[in-house]
Amino acid sequence: MDKHILSGVNCDVKSCIYNRSGKECSASSIKVDSTCNDPSNCDETACRTFIGRD
Ligand code: SF4
Repeated sequence: MDKHILSGVNCDVKSCIYNRSGKECSASSIKVDSTCNDPSNCDETACRTFIGRD
């Protein structure tokens, strides 16, 4: 299994292949960005490293 857990990341997206125990991320790094056209007035972000489970 994965030995690497990304320190400092608390993620509950269980549908992602990198998620472990509903709270940890096993990716080597993550990229997060805004989902809105105006990031300065946006309250939505998304992890672009997400890969859904089959
Ligand atoms: S890659 Fe992103 S969505 Fe997937 S477990 Fe890590 S932080 Fe969560």
